[in-house]
This record gives sequence, C-alpha cells and structure tokens, in this order.
Amino acid sequence: MAYTFRGGVHPDFRKDSTSHKPIEELKAPEIAVLPVSMHVGAPCEPIVNVGDIVDMGQKIADSEAFVSAPVHATVSGKVIEIDKRLHPNGGKVLSVVIQNDFENRLHPSVKPRDYEHLTEDEIIAIIREAGVVGHGGAAFPTHVKIKSGVGKVNRLLINAAECEPYITSDHRVLLERTDEVIGGVTILMKTLGQSEAVIGIETNKHDAIAVLKEAIGGRQDIKIHPLKPKYPQGAEKQLIETITGREVPSGKLPADVGAAVFNVDTCGAVYRAVALGVPVMRRVVTVSGSAVANPKNLNVRIGTPLENLIEATGGFKEEPNKVLMGGPMMGVAQFSLSAPVIKGTNAVLAFCENEAMDAKSSECIRCGKCVGVCPMNLLPTYLYLYSENGKLEECEKYGVLDCIECGACNYECPARLYLVQSFRTAKQRILDKRRK
Ligand code: SF4
Ligand code: SF4
Repeated sequence: MAYTFRGGVHPDFRKDSTSHKPIEELKAPEIAVLPVSMHVGAPCEPIVNVGDIVDMGQKIADSEAFVSAPVHATVSGKVIEIDKRLHPNGGKVLSVVIQNDFENRLHPSVKPRDYEHLTEDEIIAIIREAGVVGHGGAAFPTHVKIKSGVGKVNRLLINAAECEPYITSDHRVLLERTDEVIGGVTILMKTLGQSEAVIGIETNKHDAIAVLKEAIGGRQDIKIHPLKPKYPQGAEKQLIETITGREVPSGKLPADVGAAVFNVDTCGAVYRAVALGVPVMRRVVTVSGSAVANPKNLNVRIGTPLENLIEATGGFKEEPNKVLMGGPMMGVAQFSLSAPVIKGTNAVLAFCENEAMDAKSSECIRCGKCVGVCPMNLLPTYLYLYSENGKLEECEKYGVLDCIECGACNYECPARLYLVQSFRTAKQRILDKRRK
C-alpha cells in the first residue's frame, strides 16, 4: 500500500529514456574547476597555491565554520589558477582550477579503513573531512545534519523518492550500487543511535525495490516504505509527513519533530568516505531532455564542465531553448555550458523550444489550482499578488518563508505566472531585510 501527502502534482515523469541504461563513466576533464562553495553554509578558503601539484582526493579548500564542507581535488595535476569562475547556481565564485596530468595519482589519505570500531564522533569527523553534503540537490553538509540530530532523532528516513521528472541518477545508484547505499544506511544508523531505518521509494521503481529487498535480506532493521508517485514526494517535509505522519511546523527543522532524512546517494557517499576513505570526487548525473541526442546517466568528476556531459551524450539534436542544472521543476537555468558539475548536480537537462514550458506570463484568473496543489498549504495566488506589489510583510504573514520552491503551483497555473521566481525574490528580500 502506498501513502501520500496533501497537494502535489502528477507530471509526466519522462524517465524512460535513461532509467534502464547502466551508469557510464565519463572521461576526466582536462581542466577541473572546483568552486570553494558547493554547499549550504560558509564558503571554504583555498589551502593550495597556484603552481602546486595536487593528488586526487587531496583537500584543497576548507573552512573553520561548523556549517561548511571541504573541497577536494578530483584529478591529479597542477593548480593553474585560483580565481572567480562561473558557478552553475549563478554568478562567479572563487574556484581552484586544476590542469589534469591524467596520472590519476591518489592522495595517500585515500585508503580503506577498518571502521567497525570507530566511535560516533570519529565517524562524524570523517564524514566532515570527506566533504559529504546532501546529494539530492540541497547540498546541506551531512556532518551538520548528523551532529544536530544526535539525541533528538528517533526516525531515520532514507529518501529514494526521486520525484522530479527526467531524473534517474538515484534510481540507477540503487540498482548498481546497492551495497554502498545499504552500507551508508548502516553507518548512519550507528552514528545517530537508531535501531531502524526506513527507505521511502516510489512504487514505480519496481526493479530498485526488488534489488533493495534482496540486499536487505533477512535484516529486520531496514524497512522499505512504498510511496505513491507524486511530485514533490521527495521534498524532506513531505517525505516525513507521508512516512511518519509528523508535520514539521513553520520555521522548524526535521530534527525538531525527531526525524532525519538522507538521500540514497548521500548514503553511498557516507559509505565511501567512512569505509573506503574516499572523499566526494564524483557523482552520478542524469543528462536528458528533448534536445539531448542520446540521454544517459554518467559518473562524473566534480569540476567537469557541463559541455563535456552534453558531448558524451551525442551533443544536441537541435539548438536547446533551455538548459537546466537539476530537474524541470526546481532546476537552475544555465546560460553557459562552461560552468562545472558541483556536488549537488543530479541532472543536466536540455529542452527544445516546444517543451521548455516558456509560455508568456499573463494575468491570474483566480482559478485556485495553485492552492489545491501546494504541499505546504500556502495560498500562492495571494503570495504572488503581495510579492509582485512589494508587500513583504503580507508575504511573510501568508507564509512565503515556508515555501519549499517545489514549483508545483507553477506547473499547474494555467496563466503560466512565474510564481516560484516571485516567491524566491520575496524570500530573499525578507531575509536581506532581517540581516540588516
Ligand atoms: S507556493 Fe511554494 S511550496 Fe507551494 S506549490 Fe508553490 S512553490 Fe511549492
Ligand atoms: S493557478 Fe495561477 S491563475 Fe490560477 S489562481 Fe493560482 S496563480 Fe492565479
């Protein structure tokens, strides 16, 4: 039996073009561009200099801030530049640029360890040192989530929903790297002192459910929870509500209702960090959309230019109208393919003109459809009115800060209003005002 949350939409998921294709290894880039900020929290400071020779897995940037995550070299070679470079989330960000020597020389710190007897604090420190962040797109530092959940959390949830259309990278990870995922879940259970973990997965991923069941075998401490395919089932608050019935109140965090949620690929990254000593250097990226010649899932070094991924999928069939990093509902539009893959890049999608859903914005016709689909029980129609008229106090009163920017209202709106963009701007202005 599959459970669900209030609201949400049922888009055409269009995952068939990549869901059955095994992950392919993408050739390492000649030049890796590694932004010092690929995570939520304080940016890192470079700890290497131009001219230094670095090894794969060597830490090249770090920060003393608690909410941050270090950056590692993803190729061996020479640091040729430390300067502001294009970032896929917009603008330019200080980046360490490495010329690949193609020797794939591993740093001595990258080696398997006997982790069974490590203490919880030692494991958390290793996860931090490895630069693990949420791989679902949010890129929140994993050690912070664990540390702030210790003693508060009594439900450990693993997010295998992957509800955004087109994206199948987690699906393929579940099929092909099942042992790493289960290994990571086991480490997280120990670190958070949990006797049970629940994997939430949408019922349309039959093959992944079967493979997971086989990998779990007779273990009673890891359960599979079937979820109804619906967007945004994979949003943290919606997943918690669906599985536990607990509602995360406005302004609160999952740990405040005793829950912690980790994406499946983050579990894999935790396992690689703790058991194999491998920091975050690669990730699986879905490259798809109507403009892509041969959609694929690629295992990519962080810092690889997006254009290399497009090239590896046969290039564009026709000139794309829109390129996104991330899914069609929450993705960030890209204006240059020279921006690099970062830790949170789960997809690169390119769309032809007829599929880019770029219709002109018109007037709100007060149909109320956005209200019916909002999973956060907000009133997008009012929020839009207030936001567009600069009425920030009203926006706040109507809960704009609770908007999870899922885009369900945008998807449903017949007037094609730019609702999420408007809410994002309002949120930013409110937060800027508070900071001042
Ligand atoms: S108002 Fe925010 S949370 Fe509600 S549907 Fe729109 S984007 Fe999603
Ligand atoms: S769905 Fe669009 S047109 Fe309908 S009420 Fe909401 S904002 Fe207005």
